[in-house]
Amino acid sequence: MTVEMIFVGTELLLGNIVNTNARFLSEQCASLGLSVYYQTVVGDNEERLQSILETARERADILLIGGGLGPTEDDMTKETVAKVLGRNLVMDEGSKAHIETYFKGREDAIPENNWKQAMVMEGCTILENANGTAPGLIVETENCRVILLPGPPNELIPMFTDQVRPYLQGLTEEIIVSTMVKVCGIGESQAELMIRDLIDTQDNPTIATYAKTGEVHLRVTARAADEESARGLIGPVVEELQNRFGDNIYTLDENETLEEAVVSLLRNYGLTITTAESCTGGLTGSRLVNVAGASDVYRMGFITYCDEAKHQILHVRQETLDTHTAVSGEAAGEMAEGGAKEAGADVCVAITGYAGPGGGTEDCPAGTVFVSCYAAGEIQTDRLQLSGNRNKIREMATVRALDLARRCILKQYGDR
Ligand code: ATP
Repeated sequence: MTVEMIFVGTELLLGNIVNTNARFLSEQCASLGLSVYYQTVVGDNEERLQSILETARERADILLIGGGLGPTEDDMTKETVAKVLGRNLVMDEGSKAHIETYFKGREDAIPENNWKQAMVMEGCTILENANGTAPGLIVETENCRVILLPGPPNELIPMFTDQVRPYLQGLTEEIIVSTMVKVCGIGESQAELMIRDLIDTQDNPTIATYAKTGEVHLRVTARAADEESARGLIGPVVEELQNRFGDNIYTLDENETLEEAVVSLLRNYGLTITTAESCTGGLTGSRLVNVAGASDVYRMGFITYCDEAKHQILHVRQETLDTHTAVSGEAAGEMAEGGAKEAGADVCVAITGYAGPGGGTEDCPAGTVFVSCYAAGEIQTDRLQLSGNRNKIREMATVRALDLARRCILKQYGDR
């Protein structure tokens, strides 16, 4: 089945807002095994919306339309779709009651134009909106299923997840199951090269790669009559990916983040960690704090930006700073060791580098970052050459530091 998406809103065309709904819905369709062939953004203009609707309904099995369901004059998605499909709009008592309940307890009277949101197309299925007043609609026509969703992501996402996704799943006899393989420490193109042969010959399951900052995610998706058969198809492919990527894979759990993987390793082995950061200025600590309850493994961290702080707080030797500078493998290693001792932690990850755009030396240009990890008396230091703007470099350095911590914990404590 093919999907086409239409996003309505002049603010999208002007670049005032980013079309995050497109990304969300596309990812959802991919995970459902639905092929998205076209996406259009159109302003709040009836004629142009009508024109794209006429084209889209001829070529797509499923039409997903986002935005323009609001109460104001320029919200005319529903009216235009009704016109193109030749359907009448009628008052839906359920939606009307929902609007009344929504406004109950507020000081203001219900604005007259809000009732427009309770008008629905004859013969449609109504999608309840738990976070707003505009209901979504599903209209089934002979060749095409048209699905209207409100624009605000906090309304669209739950409506899609709770009501549209199960509906789309129910359209096919087959079910779609997928597993996410999350890889760190290998760039996207390198990762793709390593599995080119698998991608070229893929059919069922399929492998899709997604580049994330410092990570590559591989989604293995299979279709089958039931979950067990789908898992049976996925298993050998995931095993093959594990053979090829080895310990670059940090999780097979779609919902687990890198910092969660690190915190869960620390908890498993009963360890504590600290961070000694320079150019990342606390980003690594902040990532660890993303994990709820992380204080059982992360009690404190250090941000030592200038040389004196590295020397005074982390005990990086003055000689090291003078001879090798603060951006060196030597300084990173001493930061890691000093941080662990100072915090009384089992593990310490340290980061020092030139985040750019200026700075750096001939040997260590902007983008040179040293990440170091102290664990069980051993120090491992990696030199990275990162590219991108200052923020990107700092984020990449953070990811690589967390990944180094993960590897060192596994190496030092993995078989204990
Ligand atoms: P409302 O009931 O709030 O009027 P609506 O269905 O009419 O909702 P729009 O008026 O098109 O939706 O958009 C409302 C807001 O939703 C926008 O200002 C924007 O913040 C957000 N929004 C709309 N479309 C998108 C999109 N494609 N991606 C991200 N955000 C969006």
